[in-house]
Amino acid sequence: MEFERRFATEEACRAYLVQLRWPDGIRCLRCTSPSVWRTARGLYHCTFCHFQTSVLAGTTFQDTKADLRLWFRAMWYVTNQKSGVSALGLQRALGLGCYQTAWTWLQKLRAAMVRPGRDRLTGVVEADEAYLGGPRPGLPGRGAAGKTLVSVITQVDGRGIGRIRLRRIPDASARSLERAVRAAVEPGSVVRTDGWSGYRQLETLGYRHEVVREEAEVGQHLLPRVNRVVALFKRWLLGVHQGAVTPAYLDAYLDEFTFRFNRRTSRWRGKLFYRLVQQAVQVPSRPQRTARRAVVTP
Ligand SMILES: [Zn+2]
Repeated sequence: MEFERRFATEEACRAYLVQLRWPDGIRCLRCTSPSVWRTARGLYHCTFCHFQTSVLAGTTFQDTKADLRLWFRAMWYVTNQKSGVSALGLQRALGLGCYQTAWTWLQKLRAAMVRPGRDRLTGVVEADEAYLGGPRPGLPGRGAAGKTLVSVITQVDGRGIGRIRLRRIPDASARSLERAVRAAVEPGSVVRTDGWSGYRQLETLGYRHEVVREEAEVGQHLLPRVNRVVALFKRWLLGVHQGAVTPAYLDAYLDEFTFRFNRRTSRWRGKLFYRLVQQAVQVPSRPQRTARRAVVTP
C-alpha cells in the first residue's frame, strides 16, 4: 500500500527516476550544462545548446510507450519475489495482455541487474568453472552441444560465501579464464583454484595464486563454495524457470541470480527495489531478440 501511494502517478515515478539519475541535479545530456528548464511535456530544455533531455533517454525505459507506473509495478514485483520471476508470472501479476511484452520487460530488467562499473571482489576468492545447460535427459546424441561453460568466482567469507560473480566463457583456456578473473577480482587478492593449467599465470597478473586442489578436470569436482553456488543456481533455475533456458539467454539468468544472491541478506525489500531502479536509469535499453522456448536444461 505504501508503494501504491508513493508511486500513484506517472509524475511521481518520473520524479523518482530524475532523483536517482541525477542525484546532484539535472544536466543536459548533450553538453552536461546544469542550466535547464522543464518544458510542458516534461523534458529538460538546455539554455546553452537548446537540446531537450528526457529522463528516460538512455535508460532501460527509453522509447517505452507504457505508463511508468506499470514499469514500477513490474520492478516492485520482480524484487519482491524471493527467488525470482518468470515472464508468465510477471504477465499475470501485471495483467499484461501479451506474453511477449512481459518477456521483453523481464529481459530489460535483468540487464539492469548488473551494476554498471561494479566493483571487483577482493580478499580471498575461489575461482572455478562449471558446465551449465546441456542436453535434456531423454534426448540422446546431443554430445557436448548445448553445454555452456561458466566461470564461477566466489568470495571467501569465513566459512561462508561473500559475493559472487558468474560469467559465461567460451572455453577453459588460460585466455578466457584470465579474462574472467581480471573482470571479477581486484589484483592483490588471493585466488584459489584447482591445478588446471589455465590458471597457472595468475601470479603474473598481480594475484596471489593458491592451488588448493591438484586435480584439474574442467567443470568437475568443483571447489567447495563454487560447488554450493552452482548447486543453488541449478535449483533456482529449475524452480523459477523450469530449467528451460537457451545458452543465448543464460547471461540474463546469471545476472539475475548474481543480483539476488549478492543481496540475499538485504532485509529491507525496498532497498532491492531502489537498487534496481537506480541501475535501470544507468543501463541503456538494448534491442531484444524475440522470446523462444528452449530445449536446454541445467
Ligand atoms: Zn546542452
